[in-house]
Amino acid sequence: MAVQKLIMEIQNNTVVSITYDLKIGSAEGALVEKVDSSAPFVFLFGAGGLLPEFEENLHGLTAGKSFEFTIESDNAYGPVQDEAIIELPLNIFEVDGAVPDDLLVVGRYLTMQDHQGNPLRGKIEKVGTENVTMDFNHPLAGADLHFKGGVESIREATEEELAHGHVHGEGGHHH
Ligand SMILES: [Zn+2]
Repeated sequence: MAVQKLIMEIQNNTVVSITYDLKIGSAEGALVEKVDSSAPFVFLFGAGGLLPEFEENLHGLTAGKSFEFTIESDNAYGPVQDEAIIELPLNIFEVDGAVPDDLLVVGRYLTMQDHQGNPLRGKIEKVGTENVTMDFNHPLAGADLHFKGGVESIREATEEELAHGHVHGEGGHHH
């Protein structure tokens, strides 16, 4: 047995570069996002901010391995909540006393503000003569997420990356 070197596995404090297709529900579902090797997704594993089940499915993989898994909506962006679909009076869309032409288009996303000043992104569902119905659910609420892809590379995070909690350089932060 000629053992030569350590192969790095995906684990906490590694910088991971992956490509994937994200589809709704299954491999046959609608394509939501395609991340290919021209601009892979590079992230600091275990730093938070990603769906926990997403990281669990990648943990222990090595460079060159492929993966395919589905995360149920309850473990992703949750169910569609009826109370997040609301009717808003037309006047709150006014800018300088009038609703801008072409602003209210069904399917368009707008960023609104709540009473505390927080931005809320919502999709226009219906435009009436007095009200506009907007859906503030996450665009992937209610969806099971099917990921299929491959691990491009894995490296140790630098001290600085660990201190900042994010990746520097290619595919990461530049500052
Ligand atoms: Zn930084």
